[in-house]
Amino acid sequence: MTSTPRESDLAALTAVLPPDSWTRDPARIAPHLVEWRGAWHGRTPLMLLPKTREEVAATLKVAHARRIPIVPQGGNTGLVGGGVPDETGRSVLLSTGRLRRIRRLDEAGRLMVAEAGVTLAEADAAAADRGLRFPLAIASGGSATVGGAIATNAGGVHVLRHGNMRALTLGVEAVLADGTIIDELRRVHKDNTGYALTPLIVGSEGTLAVVTAAVLQLVPRPAAFVAALVATDSVDGALAAFLQADKRLGVQLEAAEFFPRFGLELVLRHIPATRDPFAAPHPAYLLLEAAGEDPAALAKAMEDLLGAAFDAGVIRDAVIAKNEGERRALWRLRESLSEAQKKEGASLKHDVALPLDALSAFLAEAEAFIAAELPGARPCIFGHLGDGSLHLNIQAPAGADTDAERAFRARWPEVQRAIHDLVVAHGGSIAAEHGIGRLKRAELARLGDPGRIDAMRRIKHALDPHGILNPGVVLPPTDDH
Ligand SMILES: Cc1cc2nc3c(=O)[nH]c(=O)nc-3n(C[C@H](O)[C@H](O)[C@H](O)COP(=O)(O)OP(=O)(O)OC[C@H]3O[C@@H](n4cnc5c(N)ncnc54)[C@H](O)[C@@H]3O)c2cc1C
Repeated sequence: MTSTPRESDLAALTAVLPPDSWTRDPARIAPHLVEWRGAWHGRTPLMLLPKTREEVAATLKVAHARRIPIVPQGGNTGLVGGGVPDETGRSVLLSTGRLRRIRRLDEAGRLMVAEAGVTLAEADAAAADRGLRFPLAIASGGSATVGGAIATNAGGVHVLRHGNMRALTLGVEAVLADGTIIDELRRVHKDNTGYALTPLIVGSEGTLAVVTAAVLQLVPRPAAFVAALVATDSVDGALAAFLQADKRLGVQLEAAEFFPRFGLELVLRHIPATRDPFAAPHPAYLLLEAAGEDPAALAKAMEDLLGAAFDAGVIRDAVIAKNEGERRALWRLRESLSEAQKKEGASLKHDVALPLDALSAFLAEAEAFIAAELPGARPCIFGHLGDGSLHLNIQAPAGADTDAERAFRARWPEVQRAIHDLVVAHGGSIAAEHGIGRLKRAELARLGDPGRIDAMRRIKHALDPHGILNPGVVLPPTDDH
């Protein structure tokens, strides 16, 4: 399955769809062939734009019979190259951009049935109309889709309180490689009628099925939020502050986001209208946010927490946002880190997760490795401290010119391997939020449990015997058909 599809294959695919459910216009297809960061580029002769699950099923049936590779794509915000066809031009792109309906909103059950192409922001806005909320919060939520978030088991800033996408997905409707429609759109929390297929499809990155709709868990929309930025000595200090916040605020605590001084400096340097809320610099910061019904009680709980943490010597300083503008300004510091890093120049990125009790030792070893092996490189390690997931990014040395940046980037495979070795040694995960995609499948092969990979191959073969769904993604290279 290496050559480009024959014209007769493309004609067979388009023949089962209405004329407005596909395009061969290169200008329309072009934006779908570049990944958000520009790291992955691809080619395809055809983009399918099905509007119903039946149209998805009809096209997959043809693709299965004719062995045509299909790459599902939602909002194209994925960061591991899984949603962009490869450069051979052999794959056909299947965009869920037309599967846009919210089929049902069940206020009493706090559930929503949304089609795969609905964006996370649209899902939340629809929930808001009924005083509810879809709580998965990622910075790309204006474009990222329900189907993409399911396929990648997306995380974000609220995982510590509301869980990741798997926890928020009660059931999916999906189409298997041969066109079989499976309907697990159950709206009940207890259903033990045989194997649960939904948890398997969540996180499968388009390799097992095309998701067409899902039942999403909603939560009540809080009346009030309070955010505080806490200054600490180190990641250990931030962790201690988080544990105190977790204990004292309980279920009201929604987010605990860590970033270092260097990250804040990059934001202040590159992002307009940002300012350091503290008079003096501090080594590390923790952004805490709590949500509840009574604004005054919430603010008091946060003040009491921070007062106690300060008195106990756990934190160095703290600011509490007094209004929505100040709250947004604090979040802007955290949410601008990636953009600021991009503006600063080249960086090597790792999306990893660690058990909380291993975090400190892991970071010490990772920073020692960076100092020894990448002289002058500047670690910018930030992330969702509350659930242990980290963006371990390494910025090129200050003042690096184009050649130096190229040489720095060329170290990535070797650096990635060393960082991943440390992650595994400390019991962590080499793919926390973004998935394996094309980016990490060799690393999955190198570090994954062989029995587990073998079981994954068998599942893949059972559900997609010709390997037409997203070939080259997730499973290690030898599985290519
Ligand atoms: C600025 C920015 C911030 C981000 N922050 C976070 C974050 O905090 N946490 C986090 O987890 N991620 C984050 N991401 C990554 C990304 O937004 C998520 O992975 C998101 O879930 C991808 O959704 P999408 O609709 O864009 O999927 P795409 O990028 O289109 O696809 C991603 C994968 O899912 C598959 N896929 C898409 N739709 C379907 C479908 N209907 N059926 C089957 N397979 C499908 C694709 O084949 C591909 O493998 C961020 C990305 C950006 C650009």
